[in-house]
Amino acid sequence: MIRIDGSFGEGGGQMLRSSLSLSLVTGMPVALEKIRAGRRKPGLMRQHMTAVRAAAEVGDAEVTGNDPGSQNLVFKPRKIKAGSYRFAVGTAGSCTLILQTILPALIRAEGVSDVEIEGGTHNMMAPPFEFLQKTFLPLLEQISGATISAELVRHGFYPAGGGLFKVRVAPAAAKPSKALKLLERGKVQKREGVAMVSKLSNDIASRELKKLRSMLEWEESELRLERITTSPGPGNVVMASVSSECGVMEIFSGFGRLGVSAEKVAEGVAREILAYMAADVPVGQHLADQLLLPMALAGAGEFRTMPLTLHTETNLHVIGKFLPIGADIVNEEDGTVKIKIKKVKS
Ligand code: ATP
Repeated sequence: MIRIDGSFGEGGGQMLRSSLSLSLVTGMPVALEKIRAGRRKPGLMRQHMTAVRAAAEVGDAEVTGNDPGSQNLVFKPRKIKAGSYRFAVGTAGSCTLILQTILPALIRAEGVSDVEIEGGTHNMMAPPFEFLQKTFLPLLEQISGATISAELVRHGFYPAGGGLFKVRVAPAAAKPSKALKLLERGKVQKREGVAMVSKLSNDIASRELKKLRSMLEWEESELRLERITTSPGPGNVVMASVSSECGVMEIFSGFGRLGVSAEKVAEGVAREILAYMAADVPVGQHLADQLLLPMALAGAGEFRTMPLTLHTETNLHVIGKFLPIGADIVNEEDGTVKIKIKKVKS
């Protein structure tokens, strides 16, 4: 039984999700304690409980402790099953994080899976749907050889939720996992900024686009306003993407919320883009922590990124509990960081 102390490092929900993914793929049971000890409201919340339920269904697992506020969980998987799955968070909790929990298992299942997840699709502190679809999945396909398509049916924003997306996962026939190498960004090939509003004034999005334009000096044709008509609740998100020669489309996002001006929301996104451009790396900070698990399961991979976040360091720690995998981390003089996944003796 692998034991995970959820108070280590970042002490958040990612430790739980990574543990579930790794337990499913390795078949090793896991016992977690002090779950989300680093958060203001520790223990399992709706979104985390849905991730546990999803992992349990996919891996036919025996579970104890999957209750609201629980800080202890035991998860014993049996066998990964391909199939048709539907999960509903029941709140605006992030659907993309739930999908990421079960993806490593589904790309190793014996057959195609169809997954529908209902809840939040555009949440603060989580990958928005477009990041999943255009940033993360293409890289996961390259690493694993699987074919994965994702379709957004409805946007779900905090607090109403009610969003929905569908994903089809076709595991690789026999292709070996690829050692993905993302060391240089290369030339920027496309840039796009979008401000979305649902059940709120278009003026919010217009002000956001104006701010993006002035800070980034992008062309008018690279920026657009999108009115969302099918989401059950109000919402506003600004997303800006940079596609580069290395094959990565990085997406940065900011969310409108009460008490924060539209200009401030857009300014946050613009600052992230400017920092990413200045660092001249292919992999941004969020993508960095999310690439580790697929690379570790492939047994190889390397990338250059910005200074490591606690999420990234914590994820490496959790991976090391399940797999004989470590990382060479080189802090370059220019402030960028090179991470190379490597096998270590268990
Ligand atoms: P908690 O409620 O405990 O904070 P959580 O379950 O929401 O936890 P975290 O442990 O904070 O999860 O992990 C959030 C994940 O979402 C990380 O992988 C992080 O990189 C990713 N993420 C956060 N914001 C973005 C963003 N704007 N774009 C892409 N990914 C993001």
